[in-house]
Amino acid sequence: MVRRLRALGFTVTAGSADTDGLRQMAPQVVLQPRGGARDHGRQNFDKSVRQGVPLADIRSELGEHADALTALYPDGIARLWGSLPTRQANNEKVRALRNRRVGDDVLFYAENHFFARARILHLFESSAVARSVWGADADGVTWEHIMALGEVEEFPAPVLAAPFLRRLNVPAPLRSLTLRPAEDYHRAAQLLPRHLQPASPQIPTPAPDATPQLSPADLLNRIGSLNTHRRAGSDAPSRHQPLSLLWAVARIATGKPRLAPWSSFRTEVGALLAEFGLPGSQVTPEYPFWHLQSSRLWEIHGIPDGAGPMPRTGVLNTAQPVAGLTLACAELLQDPLTRLQAVVTLCSTYLDDVDQRELLGRVGLAGYTTADGLPDEDLDSDDGEGTDQEQAAGPVPRRPSNSSRPVRNPAIVNQVKDLYGNACQVCMTRLQYKRRPYSEAAHIRGLGSPHDGPDELANLLCLCPNHHVLFDGLEIFIDVDGYVQQTHGGDSLGPLRRNVGHRINDEHLRYHRTLCELNRLTGK
Ligand SMILES: [Zn+2]
Repeated sequence: MVRRLRALGFTVTAGSADTDGLRQMAPQVVLQPRGGARDHGRQNFDKSVRQGVPLADIRSELGEHADALTALYPDGIARLWGSLPTRQANNEKVRALRNRRVGDDVLFYAENHFFARARILHLFESSAVARSVWGADADGVTWEHIMALGEVEEFPAPVLAAPFLRRLNVPAPLRSLTLRPAEDYHRAAQLLPRHLQPASPQIPTPAPDATPQLSPADLLNRIGSLNTHRRAGSDAPSRHQPLSLLWAVARIATGKPRLAPWSSFRTEVGALLAEFGLPGSQVTPEYPFWHLQSSRLWEIHGIPDGAGPMPRTGVLNTAQPVAGLTLACAELLQDPLTRLQAVVTLCSTYLDDVDQRELLGRVGLAGYTTADGLPDEDLDSDDGEGTDQEQAAGPVPRRPSNSSRPVRNPAIVNQVKDLYGNACQVCMTRLQYKRRPYSEAAHIRGLGSPHDGPDELANLLCLCPNHHVLFDGLEIFIDVDGYVQQTHGGDSLGPLRRNVGHRINDEHLRYHRTLCELNRLTGK
């Protein structure tokens, strides 16, 4: 980019940590509808952006722009996109045409998705070039406002546009060329795949992946093979990176943006390192902030040019870069099971001697210590689910004191109880209470955060109160063979009773099992 701007005769000051300088350099975002069948949008994108336009073919039309484009495209293939002129004086499109700049990013939009991103290298107006590349309509009107594009990246999968547009206060669907300022773009950019070109040449290029698509297994492998430093004379791996990753996973679990500014990282992870780091190790959050990049799970944006192999803390404080899990990782961690497995991997691999229960609570993952997602202290006030028939008769908030708790569907609660005739699926006990049969419906994967289990029959068991408490408390689980096992050892309680009319989702049982594994780790 800088080289190309210089080629065009711009003065570019690189390496300035001055925030005004950074703001001037930061790209705005141009939202570009590709156009539909009527406008030949797909064909035009294919022809003039994806394949590109040989400069030799338009040499005579280029005129005064020939030198600039030849400098920009040494291989002789130009990537071009144009816009029709508009007669309006001050609409969205006019403002975008007037205020877009060289260096801005263009997002191509079609059918409610963004599918590609490119940099503006040059802007010019030429109806001759436009007519030659894209033709003209019956009135001779053509896409004469032309962008010359570089660094064209087509996204591996189209990105749903609505959340991004909402963040930019742009109505969806996108109807016209629209420009938004750099601050807005920066705030919303985390919803897009990261740039293939690293923001700064100092970021080490990750080794190319054998498989371009990151799988949950890849993610867990990378989490389990962090390049943690070991101090001389110590077998214990440094906890800097694992604690930082746990903090980052917790951000995903609690719905926070995956990227965080250095100032938040320094404060929050610094506190974790102080409390849960190896005894005697220094509190140096700048190390994991930077070195986690080698894990291929982590990315940093906003390090000024020339900051050196690892920027000093002063540089971080001035530039306030942002860092966090890559988009691919963050997307995989949206899945509750993958997220839970990531937490288990971190705890079991690196955080053996830590008070993990305390740690999980500190990072906002206390929900992982019980099956229903509610921290321990709430259990005392929990009078059970559907403790009598009247309660189950209508939709009742699980915790009347807090309206944000999930509301359960009483119909499926009654259904699972009927299927088993109110007999516990673990011990067959059929209790009588107030001269009626009594049982409880237990969610296998809790409804609350961070488990986000569904309120459906395949996620329910019919249990007696004892086994409900033990199941929710992660003291018992169902193994792969369908036997009820005790988390902390001891004999199996026998097979889980099943009714042919009750399809239990094995994924939910697996989730609960993984949760028990975490509980075994944290409870020792
Ligand atoms: Zn029972």
